[in-house]
Amino acid sequence: MNIILLGPPGAGKGTQAQRLVERHGMRQLSTGDMLRAAVKAGTPVGLQAKAVMERGELVSDAIVSALIGEELDSMGPDAGAIFDGYPRTEAQAASLDDILAQRGRKLDHVIELAVDEDALVERITGRYTCAQCGKGYHDTFEQPKQLGVCDKCGSTEFKRRPDDNEETVRTRMAEYRAKTAPILPVYEARGIVARVNGMAEMDHVTAAIEKIIAG
Ligand code: AMP
Repeated sequence: MNIILLGPPGAGKGTQAQRLVERHGMRQLSTGDMLRAAVKAGTPVGLQAKAVMERGELVSDAIVSALIGEELDSMGPDAGAIFDGYPRTEAQAASLDDILAQRGRKLDHVIELAVDEDALVERITGRYTCAQCGKGYHDTFEQPKQLGVCDKCGSTEFKRRPDDNEETVRTRMAEYRAKTAPILPVYEARGIVARVNGMAEMDHVTAAIEKIIAG
């Protein structure tokens, strides 16, 4: 199964992708995570991407499509793929068609997480993760049971994404509206888009996604 999770920053794509990974052993292919790893490692791609990401703009189509191809090649042919944060432009959507076809895969579902943009800024600027295990938290909506200690692994180190500040979030949303939202009609024409209310409680969103996947 090959699924795209589509929605603006903060819609919950990453959270829902992680849940599908845990439940179904699928692989999450997040170009944002791949780029952050490249920045951290100081690779040529990372060096190129760092400033662009800090501004909230989009990294070049060629870079992200190459990352996706490499990641798919590292997976078994039968492993399911959840695309999270990719494709983000019409050119990337066209590349993904080729990338999948070359590997004998096809897109099963594009799941749109529909959200109220005003709520997103609060969602994003309050979020942080455990530096050790990556579990996600939020200043307002989900603090650890014991403040400052990760529920999952006990670590006391946490981190925030440098691009999760209000100014950058606004740019990221504008990029979404201008460049990513236009790819929805392309998939709608193929009859593979399902819409989920991303403002619902996380478990309800997961249940709705499960239902779509179950067919
Ligand atoms: P994300 O973690 O998906 O919010 O991505 C964080 C940042 O990485 C974005 O604001 C972009 O600068 C960059 N990025 C991630 N995925 C893509 C993509 N598919 N195309 C272009 N830039 C991307």
